[in-house]
Amino acid sequence: MYFDLFVIGGGSGGVRAARIASSLGLKVGLAEGKDLGGTCVNRGCIPKKLYSYAAHFQDDVEIMKSFGWKTEKKSFNWSKLVLAKKKELQRLNGIYRNLLINSGVKIFNSWGSFGDNNKILLNKKKIINSKYILIAAGGKPKLLECEGAEYCIDSDSAFDLKVLPKKILIVGAGYIALEFASIFNGLGVDTTVCLRSNVILRGFDSEISEFLYKSMEEKGIKFLFNEIPKRISKTKNKFLVEFKNQKQEFGLVMSAIGRAPFIDNLNIKNTKVKITKSGDIIVNDYYETHHKNIFAIGDVINRVQLTPVAIAEAMNLVNNLKKRKKKKLNYNNIPTAVFSNPNVATVGLSENEARLKFKKIKIFKSTFKPLKLSLGNFKEKVFIKMIVDSKTDKVIGLHYIGEDAAEIIQGFSVAVLKGLKKSDFDQTIGIHPSSAEEIVTLKQ
Ligand code: NAP
Repeated sequence: MYFDLFVIGGGSGGVRAARIASSLGLKVGLAEGKDLGGTCVNRGCIPKKLYSYAAHFQDDVEIMKSFGWKTEKKSFNWSKLVLAKKKELQRLNGIYRNLLINSGVKIFNSWGSFGDNNKILLNKKKIINSKYILIAAGGKPKLLECEGAEYCIDSDSAFDLKVLPKKILIVGAGYIALEFASIFNGLGVDTTVCLRSNVILRGFDSEISEFLYKSMEEKGIKFLFNEIPKRISKTKNKFLVEFKNQKQEFGLVMSAIGRAPFIDNLNIKNTKVKITKSGDIIVNDYYETHHKNIFAIGDVINRVQLTPVAIAEAMNLVNNLKKRKKKKLNYNNIPTAVFSNPNVATVGLSENEARLKFKKIKIFKSTFKPLKLSLGNFKEKVFIKMIVDSKTDKVIGLHYIGEDAAEIIQGFSVAVLKGLKKSDFDQTIGIHPSSAEEIVTLKQ
């Protein structure tokens, strides 16, 4: 069988590339060994956001009380949530399948590996030849290195636990760790996060990290800074975790220490494709590997591990292939959100990054209790931070902690991407009463 483009991996990036290439007239095939939709649909963004909703309703119940509602009869059924999630994911898998079929892509429910630079083996047997090959095989959880690490669950298995533990330890303090900590905590699990440093969400604006840490701690999550497991052992039906300075028992230990490219079974050695020490596929600005007809996008290249970025890389690659052009994707000002409780969203530079890049900057901040929480005794606050280049008045960073942070920053990211000035924000009339109106009324 011969294709113009053969895609290995049916995640967000692979599916988009295959669909668009096919609709542009190329003969396209795609191999996926698991469910279509990849990490985002099956083991990432979508189930995580559904579980976040489930967990954050816990807060809503408290807020309801402050508005006069009686809420005594509340109860939560984990198995029901897992089942409802499963059904929704099956629906999404079907949508992905139909999108591919309707755009003329031939789908193979098989694992693809390289026979040589132009040859793909499906489930190590069936041979496919293709002019171009795209590796979009995604990522997998990194493994914790300590004695007893095999007892840890990761985010893949966390979604389908048979029962919720009473007490959980989460190792790591990045996106996945903090999102799951908020999920477990919201669902009533005694939750502890341990991390190797003294800062959560490293790489984010440091005031945002600090504010989020305090907000999560106020909601009952415990943090162990500068502590990661040295040894994990199984006791009767618990896990004993030994740290540098203490030991504690947990019902479950979850590792969330980052994700690595999933290239294990690709037989990359049969090609000219090169990888870094940590297994990332090396590509240039146009997603070309060391073999000119093999490309890679998404989590396997480990640039920015975000679904919309993989999709943008797919579009960029296919447009370049079709138009024989060489246009680079702009990686600046990618907005991002952490669906912790409270949510965090950000676009542009942190204060530290801005200070390195610009001579003089202005910082605008606001901390306030949102109207929705004003009738009860709640401590949670919204935090907004804006960073402006003093010379040009352009807004170069915008950070938000609070309900619907992602929805708010998604809108404002257009303004930051387009280089709008603080004076443009000031001219914008606020929508009252809203929390987001503060962004257009910030005073130094
Ligand atoms: P991450 O955000 O990179 O965070 C990894 C965490 O693990 C950090 O706290 C890191 O600490 C720690 N860590 C790394 N190696 C360690 C080790 N050997 N021992 C102990 N701790 C270690 O990774 P992630 O949370 O696993 O998520 C993976 C990627 O998926 C993210 O980078 C993100 O791009 C994507 N994602 C996005 C979303 C979203 O858009 N909402 C949600 C989930 C995942 P240091 O800070 O000290 O390095």
